[in-house]
Amino acid sequence: MSSNSKLKTSAFVASHGAAPARRLQNSKLAKLVTALLDWFAKNARDLPWRRTRDPYAIWVSEIMLQQTQVKTVIPYWERWLRELPTITAVAKASPDKIHKLWEGLGYYTRARNLQKAAKQIVEKHGGIFPQNYDGVLALPGIGRYTAGAICSIAFNQPTPILDGNVIRVLTRIFGIAENPKEKETNAQLWKLAEQLVSHAKTRRSQRKTFSKNFAAFAPLREAGWCSLLNQSLMELGALVCTPRNPQCGVCPVKKLCVAFRENRVNELPNLGKREAATARHFVAFVAERNGRFLVRQRPAGVVNADLWEFPNVEIDPVRSSSPAKRDKSAHYSGKNSQSRVMSAAAVQKLDPEIALAAEQLGFGAYEVKPLCTIKHSITRYRITLEAFQTQLGRTSHTNSSKAGVWKTPAQMQQLAFTAAHKKLASAAFDCILSAR
Ligand code: SF4
Repeated sequence: MSSNSKLKTSAFVASHGAAPARRLQNSKLAKLVTALLDWFAKNARDLPWRRTRDPYAIWVSEIMLQQTQVKTVIPYWERWLRELPTITAVAKASPDKIHKLWEGLGYYTRARNLQKAAKQIVEKHGGIFPQNYDGVLALPGIGRYTAGAICSIAFNQPTPILDGNVIRVLTRIFGIAENPKEKETNAQLWKLAEQLVSHAKTRRSQRKTFSKNFAAFAPLREAGWCSLLNQSLMELGALVCTPRNPQCGVCPVKKLCVAFRENRVNELPNLGKREAATARHFVAFVAERNGRFLVRQRPAGVVNADLWEFPNVEIDPVRSSSPAKRDKSAHYSGKNSQSRVMSAAAVQKLDPEIALAAEQLGFGAYEVKPLCTIKHSITRYRITLEAFQTQLGRTSHTNSSKAGVWKTPAQMQQLAFTAAHKKLASAAFDCILSAR
């Protein structure tokens, strides 16, 4: 609660007593629940996981939606459910299949935990998703938010949810100025989320007037109030109470919203100072021979474990010679930028770190030429992947699985690559194979 609201509440409590203050809060919660449920009935999006009450399908959607947008998730969710229609199918799938179905969604630990949890459900619950909140929370990869979402959406239990969307909605409606990451404020937000869903549970009316009267909404019409209330909070945060340019004019709870009334919408939530992004620079080498490429699988226990990539190493991102400068001043033997070949000696002369990287990976003795530079951001990292094409002799890199294995493009399509290396593979196919 903002210091302003806290003052108002304490002044009210001082002059009227705690019971009326509680009644005031209860009346606001009841109005909020009604407004949110009415709005959701008319504005709920037709999302594929809303066409089912199957806890397995809802669980998969909740895990995929962590850190990922709805429109990105839809085709992944549909393909996953098609390929792995049951929890037992997930438990039995090969890790390669799990990674391939997740390829491009990022944060692969989510997929590995899904499989670990599926195995536990098969072993301990006979393949039936547990309905007990503590049992759900005990599964790998399921935290308080996800357990609350599954238990409320699938089983209509009054379990609260609090993610980024709900934090934004609640801090604005209740005018909470403190940082939601602070322990006390976070606990206050969980309490509000719990009070809201508990109010929904006590709602007597059974009337639900979904405006879009099509078959897809049958599961929603049959859903209970706790399920609908939590989904309405998520939906309001996604469609109306957005981080930038919230649509307060059409918001169903604007009359109850402290931030709107006090013109503080853009100040909330107070997330404190953003951590500065960290630059990271990787150098990768694309070796091709007879239409096959040298690729390797990342080991277990590291970031992006078990995914595939081109041989690469991380180098210091702050160097005297940036890729652009290096490109201009390099001693190339070719005529145009596509075909310029930079000898290993030239690379060494220009940038010892690139030469050292080539040496470390066993490419030091071969000619290399710039292929492409791929940039992407993940969490707080700004990543540059600078790729070079190289050639290898007949006997090199053939017997060491640590160095990599030779794969055709068709074989590579069956493997799960990290996002940056998937882009690099496309660039390699275009620049090296298509150019022939
Ligand atoms: Fe969010 Fe504006 Fe609605 Fe308040 S009135 S909940 S700030 S969209």
